[in-house]
Order: sequence, then structure tokens, then C-alpha cells
Amino acid sequence: MTNKLTFDFAATSVGDLPTPEPDSPYRPRRPYRFSTLCATVENPSLKDQYGSSSVPIYQTATFKGVGGEYDYTRSGNPTRSHLEHHVAKISSAVHGFSVSSGMAALDTILRLLKPGDAIIAGDDLYGGTNRLLAYLRTHAGITVHHVDTTKPDTIIPLLKTENNIAMVLLESPTNPLLKIVDIATIAKEVKERVPAALIVVDNTMMSPFLQRPLEHGADVVYDSATKYLSGHHDLMAGVITCNRDDVAKQIAFIINATGNGLTPFDSFLLLRGTKTLALRLNQQSSTSMLVARYLHSLGFPTFYPGLPDHPNREIHERISNGYGAVLSFSTGSKDVSERVVAATRLWSVSVSFGCVNSLISMPCAMSHASIPAATRAARGLPEDLIRLCVGIEDSADLLDDLERALIDAGAVRRTATGLVRVQTSIGEAVQKLAEKEAAKDEIPPHEKQWVVSAPGKVILFGEHAVVYGIPALAASVSLRCYAISTPRTDNTLGVHFLDIDVGQPGGFKHEWSLSGLPWDAVPSQSSQVEGEVALNHQLLDVISSQVLADISDANARQASLAFLYLYMVLAAHSGQRPALTLAARATLPVGAGLGSSASFSVCTSSSLLLVFGRIRVPSQSLPASPSPPPASSSSSPSPKLSDALAQCTNIYAFLLEKILHGTPSGVDNSVAVFGGGLQYTKGQSGGLEAIEGFKALRFLLTDTRVPRNTRSLVAGVAERLAKDPNGVGQVLEQIREVVVRARHKLGEEGNAATVLAGLIDENHAHLVDLGVSHPSLEDVRDVTRKYGLATKLTGAGGGGCAVTLVPDDFSESSLSSVIATLKEKGYVPYLTEVGGPGLGILIAQGTSVLPLTPPEPATPEIESDGESGAQTVTLFAQKSKPELGSWIGSLGDWAYV
Ligand code: PLP
Repeated sequence: MTNKLTFDFAATSVGDLPTPEPDSPYRPRRPYRFSTLCATVENPSLKDQYGSSSVPIYQTATFKGVGGEYDYTRSGNPTRSHLEHHVAKISSAVHGFSVSSGMAALDTILRLLKPGDAIIAGDDLYGGTNRLLAYLRTHAGITVHHVDTTKPDTIIPLLKTENNIAMVLLESPTNPLLKIVDIATIAKEVKERVPAALIVVDNTMMSPFLQRPLEHGADVVYDSATKYLSGHHDLMAGVITCNRDDVAKQIAFIINATGNGLTPFDSFLLLRGTKTLALRLNQQSSTSMLVARYLHSLGFPTFYPGLPDHPNREIHERISNGYGAVLSFSTGSKDVSERVVAATRLWSVSVSFGCVNSLISMPCAMSHASIPAATRAARGLPEDLIRLCVGIEDSADLLDDLERALIDAGAVRRTATGLVRVQTSIGEAVQKLAEKEAAKDEIPPHEKQWVVSAPGKVILFGEHAVVYGIPALAASVSLRCYAISTPRTDNTLGVHFLDIDVGQPGGFKHEWSLSGLPWDAVPSQSSQVEGEVALNHQLLDVISSQVLADISDANARQASLAFLYLYMVLAAHSGQRPALTLAARATLPVGAGLGSSASFSVCTSSSLLLVFGRIRVPSQSLPASPSPPPASSSSSPSPKLSDALAQCTNIYAFLLEKILHGTPSGVDNSVAVFGGGLQYTKGQSGGLEAIEGFKALRFLLTDTRVPRNTRSLVAGVAERLAKDPNGVGQVLEQIREVVVRARHKLGEEGNAATVLAGLIDENHAHLVDLGVSHPSLEDVRDVTRKYGLATKLTGAGGGGCAVTLVPDDFSESSLSSVIATLKEKGYVPYLTEVGGPGLGILIAQGTSVLPLTPPEPATPEIESDGESGAQTVTLFAQKSKPELGSWIGSLGDWAYV
């Protein structure tokens, strides 16, 4: 492409405004260039009495006095006069008019015709123009000849006196195929053959900035000023310009007679819009060229006059100053085009064009839907055509968005050498594949293997004080619990809890015959969701006494009880009793106060809810996410699980927490479901609030392995408070202050490590005052303090765990030696990140309707058939703890809350 036209914009000079410098033989006065004209609203014959620099809105219907310049706004208004003068100036016109819409402008012009007159018009005009012409034909005795105006030869035979040709109506480029009409040649031919006929041009696609047809022989030009002239899609308007005084007089008469003149307020808005016309359209045109070249380079048939092979490009270059900001392309498949349009984010789906925002549409389904399909086909309008109307957004963002949409829609795919267009046959294959994948989804959920995970939590600030209504801050940790539910065919229900030590290798394993379960004990109201959510103690008792009597280990019993209870309630509701085994394992230390039971509850409930089809993983197109997401709540790149899915899982996880703990606060399961950071205030409805902007932080979690009784620790604080309400009350208030400051810091941009370290020390000191620390926790503090790190106990103290903030810039060698020292002392340190994602579900490869690349065979391990499913479970048990997280992450695509 030559940039000639693009760079000529600035040099273009039109209008009646000479530069202010004095004329001299050596330095003649030069006319201003187009963008200067646009920005300069000056009408020497309409001076404002106060010298206002913006034209005021004369919001009045009438003007006082007799014989003044204005009397009634239908006939004329100063704001409108300013606008009309301005539009005429930038259109190389002597006369300008503004009316209520582009169609009103055409209607005004067509009223110049009389019954018996004939009009020649294009066959690829704006739909509204066709509609109005059809109306005149049936109601006003006007003959309309539609011809292919891109070929002047088709017009010439009609240019005969006996044909009464009174008007030739042209549009160039046409919309949406951007066909070029040689306005200059046609005008010349018409003038020679039927001199009385008026050449009328709809210049909406170009605007006066890019094309001024009056300079090429047109008699009357109109624009839908709703488009580029106003530029912001905030008003409807039409403008008409002409140089012939006789025609102008008639137009002024019609506008006054019909009352379609533009209102003062809209005149003001339009005048304001025109000031930036050159600036906007310059940017829009250059981005359009980039977009057109991009689509063209991918091999899509692309319609844009700036492309080297565009038909009649040289004609366009002769009569205009640029290529405009509308282009269209065809993908080869209507379905693919529909998916492209649906997949864009920055390009909004909308009719019209000319706005500062970019728009995308499918003309056959939208703007041209009123034209019969057969006519569209006859005019060569492809049903899969996509029209792009380019705005002023950054071109890189627009291209990125378009590229992503093309990929998501299966119109292009990535290869080692870059993007390639998917040919229609491949497109169809992609479609079939998508259908196959969708059909795969029809496998009943209880016949699939489900893999889920949920994080543990740490209380960062506010433990113990939380009992007295002071908020506590909790966050997810990157140590997680994982569960796999595998279908089986032997009418048996199994559990395998790998972390529950019952004195045998591989943890606790148990099986129950489904028919042997006490189904009669499941309350009938369990078909009601409310009935499920309220714990049924009778059913719990029956399961405990009749089914779990032979299990002596307390943890194994409680975990089995929680699992069986939810299974039976959901089974009773669904009327199905699918056989399955649930295996669960954590990288979290169990029983250390880090929310392992809540993450187990979330894993168990989400697995069972998936099996019974009560929650569903997203079936829309999802980008692949082969590895676990980073521990950053704010910018997880992975697909999102829906809020409804999260809420539902949380309700049932809370139920299981009740079975495991009696009276859970709801913090742990909420963190395990939602991830990130939460503020919890006891006893308040809506007492859980997400900490917005919570960023991932590194912490060392140290399990001192000194378990203490949480209840007695809590009771101890209560006793102190009873004895010394003032002193202890003051400590609690100090903790509140720490929490408030910490919440603020945790949600703030920037490095908060130093402030947080100070708050950690402060909070710990208050906990010492409450008497809940322990010599081993103080020992951990001593070790870490030597390295300049701040440590506090976490949780009520029962788990004997400490948290140490590890700033990002803390040296790796020091970190290794802290860890080594803690290990030497018999403690178990875990390096973790807090604030990462919540519940995760492995969505099988190919849940994506539209894979980015040709899909690879599904990872054998996650196929749902018995053999390979069993292999996954075997590996799940065999992997070492440090390997577990990354191995599970690599099984396929994960979606997270
Ligand atoms: N001319 C063209 C080329 C158009 O695209 C449109 C509207 O889309 C019009 C005229 C009619 O303009 P308005 O909608 O302002 O009446």
C-alpha cells in the first residue's frame, strides 16, 4: 500500500478560512488545512455578543421582535446556523443544512423530485435508503432504477431525456462490501447527457474529511452525521451540503416546511463532534489499515479499499483522501463467523458505525437482514461476512482481541510457525470435534472420574480476639487437599483417606456395600434442598452406630461419617446410588490448625456434588491451563468456576465441617472454596468479606508438632477476661487495631512486607498477653528473628503452628538455613504462598468446545474407564508429597473459583 493518501490528510485544504497572515506577493495567504478547519468554528457573520469560545445553545423556539434574523427555530436557529456554516466550510460547500437524521437528509433531498421523475440508484445501497426509495416508488409516482453503479457503463443507457432522469443517487464506498463507485466519471456522464439531473452522493462512509464529492461534480451531498461527523453515537443527525443556490433555496424551504431541522442541543453536540473529526478518523483509518492487512495476511477474503488488490482502488484514491474505517471479511463459514463475533470483547456487537468505539457485526443477520436472502446472494453479499467498524482504541488491543476471538472461534490456529487460517473443511472438522466433545459431556456425571482440590488456610491476624467479635484475617495457602472420585461397577462405596494414620501403610481404606447402607433412615424431606442443608442428627446417629461401628480411629470415623452422610442425602435426592471410591490426600499438615478438615470437606462435597450432577463444570470454550495457577488471587489466568458452583459447594462443605467439628465458624470452608484473603467477623450476618486486592505473599508455616487443646486455650482467654476485664479488654482492642491496619495493608498496592512484619510481631505480643503462646512457638520466633523475620502463632494455638512472613527479597540461602535450623529442632517447616485460588476442578481435556490447537489425545490417566481411572488412583497414592501437587496439576486443564 502506498501511504500517499494517509499522509496527504494534513495537506488537504478546503473551505473559506484563510490564514490570518497578511497577503503579500512573497508570502500569499494560504488556506488552513483540514484539521485546523475542523477545530476552528468561526462564522464572521454570526459574532457572539460576549465572545464565547464555544457556540452557545440557543434553546429557544421563538425569538422576540419582528424582522430579525431569527424568528422561529423551525425556520432557523443561531446554534444550527453555526453548525451549518461549519459543515459547509469543511465540505467545500457554499450551503449547509442540518436535519434530524441521515434518513431525514435523504427524505429532504428526495422531496426535490416530482411524480413522474425517475431516479437511478445503486444496487448495493444502505438498507434504509432502499426502503425510502421503495416507498416513493409506490406512493409518489417516482421511477427507481437500481443499477450496479460500480460500472458506469450500466448507467449510460438510462441517461436519455425520455427517461425523465431527475436524480442519480450514489454511495462510495458501499457498505459493507466497500465497492468503489467512480463519482467523478458518473457525474461527468450525467451532466453531459441529462444536464438537469442532480447528482446526489451519500458520503456517510467517508465524511468530508476523506471525501468531498462536491469537488468531483456532485450537486448535493448528504451524510448521516450520526456516524463520523458526531463520532460518539450520542445523537442522530443528518447534514446536507450543496453549491447551487437554487437547490439550496428549495432545501431550506423543505426543511422549514417539514420541520426536520436539527434541534439546538443536537446542533451543539454535533458541532462539538466535528471539531475532532480529522483527529478521530485519522487514527481510525490507520488502525483499519492494520486490521485489514492482518486479516488479509491470514488469507481471509478482506474488503478494504486500502488493500492492494481491492477492485477500483485507483478510482478511490483519485476521488478521496483515505480509505476509511469500515472493512469486512469472510471466514468461509457462517457458524465460525458467528463465533468470532460472539468471542470478541473490545469490539462490541452493534449496528451503525463511525463511533470512537470499535464495532463488529454480521450484516446479513443485522443491518441487511431486511433484504431477502436471495437478493443478498444475488448482490454477492456473503452470509458469513463480518463487518468491522474501527474505533480509536489502541490498535494493538484491537488486534489482540480480534486474534483471540479468531482463535477461540476456530477460524485460525496456532502452529509452530505462527497463526494459520483454518480452512472451511478444517473448520468443519473443528466443529465436529466440538460436537463430539459436547457429546462426551453427555456421559452421565456419575460415570466420570472427578479430580478436585482445595486450599488450606492460615489465620494471619486476629485469632482469639475473633471470639469477642473482633475481625480476623484469614487467607488460603498453596498447600492443598486433593480428592479423586472414581466410578466403579460393583455396587460398592469405598473411601481411601491417605493421610489418616490407622497403623497400616497407605492410610485408611474402607468399603461398604451400597445395599447394606441404612437407606430407611434418610429423611423423606431430603428431597428438599433445605432438608439436606440442615443436619439430620438421626441419620448421623444411625450411620455412626450401624455402619461405622467397626471403625475405631476417631478421625477415620468422622471423615467416613461426613462422606457417607452427604452421599446418602444426595443419592436419596437424585434417586441414584452410583458406586464409587473417594480417595483424598493433602499436601497440608493434617490437624495442625491449617484448615485441613475444611479443605477435605470442600473436596468431598464438590466431588459428590459433581457425581450427582448438582454442580457442573463450565462447558463453554476455555483456554487450556495445564499447570496450577500462581498463588495470586487477583490475576489467576485459569478458567473460572462460577460463583453459583462455589456457593453451592460451600453450603455442603459447611455441613461436612459441622459433622467433623460440631461448631465451625465458616471461615475455613469459605477460604477453601473461595481462596484469596477473607475478613471474618463472628456473629455478623455477612460476616465474611473478601479482601479485595489481596496479593500473594510467601510464608513459612512451621508445625511445632505440639498439639494443644484449642477449647482449653479459648476457655483460658475467657477466664482471664472475666478476671481482668479492663486489662484483657484493652489487649483485645489492640488486636482490633492491628487487624484494621493489616487489612488495609494487605489490600494495598506495593510492598507491604515491612509494615506487615511489624504487625505480625505486635499481634503475637498480644497473643502472649492472652496466655496462648507456647515455648516451642517462642523458639520458632527466636530462630526466625535471628534472620530478621517476623513470626506469630496462627490459629487458636491448638495446632501448634507458627507463620513467618518471608519477604520477596529474602535471600534463598538464608531461607534454606532457617528451614534447616527449624528441621534440626524437630519442627516441620513448609514454605507456602498465601492468597492463591480456592476450589479447583480438573476439567477433562476437551471440555473446551473449541480447542486452541488440534486436541491431543486425552491424558490416559483421566479417562473415565475403570483401568486408567484406577491407574490415576494408584499414582495418586504413590507420588511423594512434594510431587503430588505438580503431578495432579499436570493431569489436564483445571478451572478454579
Ligand atoms: N446512509 C448510510 C450509508 C448509513 O449507513 C446510514 C445509517 O446507518 C444512513 C444513511 C442513515 O442515517 P441515520 O441513521 O442517521 O438516519
